[in-house]
Amino acid sequence: MRITSPSVRQQARRCSRSGCANAAVATLTYVYADSTAVVGPLASFSEPHSYDLCETHGQRLTAPRGWEVVRHEVNPDDILPSTDDLLALADAVREAARPTHAPPELPPTSGGRRGHLRAVPLLP
Ligand SMILES: [Zn+2]
Repeated sequence: MRITSPSVRQQARRCSRSGCANAAVATLTYVYADSTAVVGPLASFSEPHSYDLCETHGQRLTAPRGWEVVRHEVNPDDILPSTDDLLALADAVREAARPTHAPPELPPTSGGRRGHLRAVPLLP
């Protein structure tokens, strides 16, 4: 699936690895007290010592020496908005970004308001 609208891309969480532009699907949190790196579902907000990771980097993560990696099952389908949501969002963005054309049903008129609000002659 490709997301081509820049407005949509700005709202997506990105992998925090430098040079990686993939969407984040997991959050890595270093628990220093336990020397544990926890890879779990994408956090709803940023915390200290936590990093968003894409699927690839989340799977490739290796812990520093002496550290343990704890992985919670991450199912991207449960985390990412559904395709329908993304399509709806993309549609909304396209709608907002669409240049305004003069509505074809309201052609410019030289005098006064015309159209369906026609003056009806008064009958005597
Ligand atoms: Zn990545």
